[in-house]
Amino acid sequence: MGTKLTSKQVQTIKELYVKGKTYSEIKEALNLQLSNTTIVKYTRGLEREHPSQLSEEQIQVVRRMYKKGRTYEEIREITNASVRTILKYTKGIKRTGKRKYTYNPPVFKRNCDHCGKYYESHRRRYCSEECYYEVNKENAMKRSQALRQ
Ligand SMILES: [Zn+2]
Repeated sequence: MGTKLTSKQVQTIKELYVKGKTYSEIKEALNLQLSNTTIVKYTRGLEREHPSQLSEEQIQVVRRMYKKGRTYEEIREITNASVRTILKYTKGIKRTGKRKYTYNPPVFKRNCDHCGKYYESHRRRYCSEECYYEVNKENAMKRSQALRQ
């Protein structure tokens, strides 16, 4: 898996990452068979922008969670939206489920099960949504392969 990247490709990876592009989008843009580990390696320590545009599905999730009285922190963890974006999409929504929200999720300090990157967050097994999706995708593929045999 020792793909040699040109400095221009590395630069592109960094730029796309900082813009908040997903790993899949980065791979697609470069048209390369990159592993997540490679992307992680080149983007380590870079600050990532939160997407200012949420998908329709994410907007629904934001609104539903907000309505249920979830905190911005919790909504952000799930959707990767910035607080400003959350505010934008929850304007005028009544928090019907408003209650004292005492749930304080534990912070995990560990290495990602998928890419091995060290992280500290509420995520239980993976450092990022990308890794979570990657694993789910792989598992789904394995399952369908097993079914075919
Ligand atoms: Zn990871």
